[in-house]
Amino acid sequence: MQNKITFSIITFGCKINQYESNEFFAEMVSRGFCPENEDSIADVIIINSCSVTNKTEKKILKKTRKLRRERSDCYIVLAGCFGEVYPEDIKKKGNVDYVTGNLKRSNLIEFLNNRFLPEIIESSNILSSCVAIKRTRSFLKVTDGCNNKCTYCVIWKARGKIISESIEKVALGVRKAIDDGFKEIVLLGTQLSCYGNDIGTSLSVLIEKLYDEFGSSGIMIRLSSLEPVQINIFQSVIEYIRKGFICRHLHIPVQSMADSVLKGMHRNYSVADIFELFEMFKDIPKISIGVDIITGFPGETETEFFETLENLKKLKPLSYIHVFPFSPKKDTPAETYSEQVNGKDKKGRATILNDLSDQLRRSFYSKFINTTLEALIEEMKKDDIYEATTDNFVKILVRGASEKNINKIEKIEIVDITGYNTSLRLTGLLRPE
Ligand code: SF4
Repeated sequence: MQNKITFSIITFGCKINQYESNEFFAEMVSRGFCPENEDSIADVIIINSCSVTNKTEKKILKKTRKLRRERSDCYIVLAGCFGEVYPEDIKKKGNVDYVTGNLKRSNLIEFLNNRFLPEIIESSNILSSCVAIKRTRSFLKVTDGCNNKCTYCVIWKARGKIISESIEKVALGVRKAIDDGFKEIVLLGTQLSCYGNDIGTSLSVLIEKLYDEFGSSGIMIRLSSLEPVQINIFQSVIEYIRKGFICRHLHIPVQSMADSVLKGMHRNYSVADIFELFEMFKDIPKISIGVDIITGFPGETETEFFETLENLKKLKPLSYIHVFPFSPKKDTPAETYSEQVNGKDKKGRATILNDLSDQLRRSFYSKFINTTLEALIEEMKKDDIYEATTDNFVKILVRGASEKNINKIEKIEIVDITGYNTSLRLTGLLRPE
């Protein structure tokens, strides 16, 4: 009989990566590999990598080198976006055994299978099924890849062109999540608003079909980041938010609120488009909309930065800003632009926007003090304090809850507010039944 082969998966980066690591995990188990909780003692260590910033790449290489120092005998695989875009860098600096990217993911499982467990060749074909990352929220990747070529980004190279799951397959995933007892499903996609462009359908059609089939099941759909292209898609999003099927929370990667900067980034919309888009949501009570903004993109002058700042102040309803100081990626057009902004200015601008984000979030959260909110109890944070999230993405620290409340939507009396910006939380008490 063959010795058991253990494996572990270390994930860096976004929700899509976490989701794909769960897929890897399930597929490895189905092939006969044994999961090992402690990363450093596994026979096969898979690093599902990210390439969104240079800082993350450095962290990944540090990790691979540390693992190798600790264990000369383990088999280290580096997969994911970093492996896809910069395989040579990793081979040179990473000290790993095998490098692969996103586009050859299924080959990786086959490769490991043949190398370590050659007699077990059957796959259970569970890739692309709905996989839980948290106990209370299920994630479903409905589209991968991107058809845009933003000048600062390597993700379109790492993930290739858009490939969408069929509506039937997505519906199967939703059915499974409902059967597994989930109350909420997050639809994921690198360019989610372009879902279906490759297969002759659209996100609007997908939502409509899911509502027809599951609208009365009590499940709620949360949309991950939605690119502000295909503005017509947002009309149906509004319709199904009003019906209570889609959560009242949207995250839109706007990136800048100055037209000249958007043009340099190769984003295909204008500041006027963004104002028009937000106008569509102004009548939805207590909706939470957040944006991503990059500060110090090459050529962004102080005047353009303040244009972004002033436009963000006018943009309503806006409840938070995720701020990223620009970091040049190798082999992107933006890396070669001559007018790079110095680090001090990039950080200074980021601090100004983070302070604005804190004000926006605080003002949004404050509306709920002394009210009762319904929220999904998710996990214990510490000392019998549980974290709960509302459909409009308000985070609450709850006293008076216990394990039995997890994965239930409960009523919470809100008493106060604590923290700053991304760590801002309401505090509340579980209302007795
Ligand atoms: S839309 Fe732009 S930033 Fe987003 S993944 Fe595609 S190329 Fe990258």
